[in-house]
Amino acid sequence: METMKSDILISGAGIPGLALAILLGRFGLNISMVDPFPPLPLKKTKPDGRTSALMSESLQILEHTGALPRCEDYTAPLETMRIIDRTRATRKKNLLEVNFHADEINKPYFGKNYPNAILRAALFDEMKTVRNIRFIKKAAIADYHTTGTHAIVTLDNGKTIKTKLLVGADGRSSKTRALTGIEYIVKDYGQKAITCLINHSKSHKNISTEFHTPGGPFTIVPMPGNQSSIVWVDFNDKADAFMAMNKAAFEQALEDRSGGIVGSVSLASTPSAWPLKSATTKSLISDNVALIAESAHILHPLGAQGLNLSLRDVAALAEVIADAARSGMDIASKQTLTTYENRRKNDIILRSIAVDGLHSLMISQSSLTHRIKQSGLQAIDRLPSLKNMIMHKGLTGAQDNGRLSSGQAL
Ligand SMILES: Cc1cc2nc3c(=O)[nH]c(=O)nc-3n(C[C@H](O)[C@H](O)[C@H](O)COP(=O)(O)OP(=O)(O)OC[C@H]3O[C@@H](n4cnc5c(N)ncnc54)[C@H](O)[C@@H]3O)c2cc1C
Repeated sequence: METMKSDILISGAGIPGLALAILLGRFGLNISMVDPFPPLPLKKTKPDGRTSALMSESLQILEHTGALPRCEDYTAPLETMRIIDRTRATRKKNLLEVNFHADEINKPYFGKNYPNAILRAALFDEMKTVRNIRFIKKAAIADYHTTGTHAIVTLDNGKTIKTKLLVGADGRSSKTRALTGIEYIVKDYGQKAITCLINHSKSHKNISTEFHTPGGPFTIVPMPGNQSSIVWVDFNDKADAFMAMNKAAFEQALEDRSGGIVGSVSLASTPSAWPLKSATTKSLISDNVALIAESAHILHPLGAQGLNLSLRDVAALAEVIADAARSGMDIASKQTLTTYENRRKNDIILRSIAVDGLHSLMISQSSLTHRIKQSGLQAIDRLPSLKNMIMHKGLTGAQDNGRLSSGQAL
């Protein structure tokens, strides 16, 4: 059987995989992609309950794909990020609230909230406009071996692809990662995130509100008009009980948890529940293989960091490959892939530890931990310099210092 050839084979057409394909396809490399579950075209796609709050640097990276104008009508800016601590409060006056306003750091917004399905479909449509990307339908990778200079990848339809680099962008159950044998460390939080869209009677005023509750965060994230997306985290038994409620009881529970800040609430999509895990890999690379996004790291949704982190993987990998190609080097040499890993590992480790630590603080039942957290939030609220630093470092996601995230060309 004939062996197809490409510079790069990307396994997984999620948002990060598609963004990488477009960036490197437009750069001039020959890209093949496989995904057994590709998206429908944008005109046939509706937002479901899953959205992603993407910070400005992530939007800068995505701007280079050309896909954002296709989904502008579905997104809302995040002008204020509000945290309300409700882990111990029994009365409204006991709630501790901290607001971060983008205009305090001279920005119009921290980022924008995008429906995942819409953004993915827009990227898929955009991908089809890039001549040197070949999407192989109804196929997944089955196996691969390396020759020293190439990876020879066998697909489950029996076809073979000879590629310089295989990129694993195939999500949390990554086949690519499993085939490399790279060690993978998983933590199960025993929680689920319920996601849905809601319509509400009051304006959200472009404020994203994260309630910290004893079961986890309950987050209301703006969508266009009087609509928001919900990420509602609770322990498995409670989340299952909420999911078993009838529509009226579920809507009442949503309204109770949102504390009236968006008025009365009605469901605008069917709720779904997502088991929560965190995971890291011991390495991001193997011979002729690189891992990006959830194939390499999974974060708790607290703080909305996962896809932002993944897009920084995309930018770093695209940049090191472009640099290698420009200087006539092998795009998948040990040196090229090590440069990618070195650029990404600290950001991934630090974000994973920070999100996991914040989560432990939130759900801890210890009075001491609770006092530490309250003092921390009060300090942030009272010390403008501390608040400013958090807004610059924590809310903008500016950890990459690469070309794409600062608006320069690949
Ligand atoms: C409730 C919740 C809320 C979140 N909110 C935010 C947020 O606000 N902001 C943020 O930055 N992050 C957020 N995240 C994280 C974000 O959703 C993920 O980081 C992101 O979707 C991961 O993208 P991915 O492409 O790695 O995985 P996926 O989106 O799972 O994509 C993987 C792709 O690989 C394909 N695939 C699977 N198996 C194979 C195979 N064998 N071969 C080829 N292809 C395959 C799949 O079809 C899919 O297209 C949230 C996560 C959760 C759970």
